[in-house]
Amino acid sequence: MSFDEFLHLLKNDQDELICKAETKRERKYGKHITFSRNVFVPVTHQCRNRCDYCSFVSDDPNTWILPKEYNEIIMKAKAEDCKEVLITLGEKPEEKYQSALKFLKALNFQTTVEYVNYLCGVALEQHLLPHSNLGVLSSSDLNLLKQTNASMGLMLETHSLRLMDEGKPHQNSPGKNPTLRINTIENAGKLKIPFTTGILVGIGETWQERIESLQLIADISRKYNHIQEVIVQNFNPQENTPMSDHPAPKEEDVLLTIALARKILPAGVSIQVPPNLNRERIITAINHGANDVGGISPITIDYINPNMIWQEEQYLIKELNLAGFSLKERLPVYPQYEKYLNTRMRGIIEEFKVDEKFSTSEN
Ligand code: SF4
Repeated sequence: MSFDEFLHLLKNDQDELICKAETKRERKYGKHITFSRNVFVPVTHQCRNRCDYCSFVSDDPNTWILPKEYNEIIMKAKAEDCKEVLITLGEKPEEKYQSALKFLKALNFQTTVEYVNYLCGVALEQHLLPHSNLGVLSSSDLNLLKQTNASMGLMLETHSLRLMDEGKPHQNSPGKNPTLRINTIENAGKLKIPFTTGILVGIGETWQERIESLQLIADISRKYNHIQEVIVQNFNPQENTPMSDHPAPKEEDVLLTIALARKILPAGVSIQVPPNLNRERIITAINHGANDVGGISPITIDYINPNMIWQEEQYLIKELNLAGFSLKERLPVYPQYEKYLNTRMRGIIEEFKVDEKFSTSEN
């Protein structure tokens, strides 16, 4: 379908759009909704960018996680049966902070990428699978991290340069330049890195920009076949940020964006909605085309949305079962992309497959 046809559907026949999206999800995924049991590791809150909606970013040099602290987190994750180590941090902190360079140098690392690669190696030693999101990366950095990551991620957020204009949320964030982000996502495709991306809904983008961002991701997915999931993340206003008074997107708009994502993206790409950001409407979101609720951690909070606590796994299971769905655990790499990984990571995956509770099927 063309952009005009999607826009027409959105404006004139929303019921048909929702019905088509739900049918597409049902055909591919049936009644199975997936999640990954993870531990969330915010390696540092220092970041070269300043997005107007972000409460994660901080100048504080003490936000760096030391190897000893990290080891403790990993052991706890192991004890809680987590499979994924989600590594998130500010983008290229050493470009902005001398303290970041000093921290890295004291540990004999030149760059944040080298440190994260080390941390991922530690997770692999404990037979946990890393998924890192470091922001914009060069091809050589992606290639290094490919050796220690089961998958990686970078939100496109939006393809619109307009949101970098003065007074817009990305005005102080060079790393949010869509050209740089598209390059990173495409380079990950060239390197066959299983990848997660997504859009951020409600930061001032238009419907046209939302549709075009999703079409762009769909094109990249068809070209490189590495995008395993697309997150439809709704903007969640945070206190003490420039956008604290900016309204959250309307429920109807979030749900229609989910339906559009399902319609626009290839059926094999999971549509992920964070359950903590869709607390009262997770079933409705699924009925609009979502099939995955992303990472849920039994031991750490969502550091990006600290005001939104994750539901407990048992609570989600109950809620889904009542609506006729089942919650299945998955790994940070989807089965169809395991072939992209090295033998070490594939060995760890084989160990997980021995556990009968664990879903390894594509659906
Ligand atoms: S949203 Fe990400 S890139 Fe933007 S300031 Fe926060 S940590 Fe940095």
